[in-house]
Amino acid sequence: MAREIPDFHGPHVAPPQPGHLVVAWYQPGRRALRIRVVSWTCECRPTTYELCGAAGQGFVRRTDRDKRTVHETSWTLTAAAGHTFEQILRGEAQ
Ligand SMILES: [Zn+2]
Repeated sequence: MAREIPDFHGPHVAPPQPGHLVVAWYQPGRRALRIRVVSWTCECRPTTYELCGAAGQGFVRRTDRDKRTVHETSWTLTAAAGHTFEQILRGEAQ
């Protein structure tokens, strides 16, 4: 049985709500920069979301382990990226 390590678990993403915002996802770009992961969703789900910061900007990264794809939002203000991440958690954006 897998041991629970609560500290590594992030929140679960809520199902998309009616009329949710549609997030534009792009192929990852500037890989060379050091990327800091600020928050992340629980890895028990096949799709995980990470709020990332780099070079004074923020973005959300989406990893789909089933499809083996990684996408990210456009890079924006840290606060705006944090807001998008919160909307994704609440099912208000996807
Ligand atoms: Zn979980």
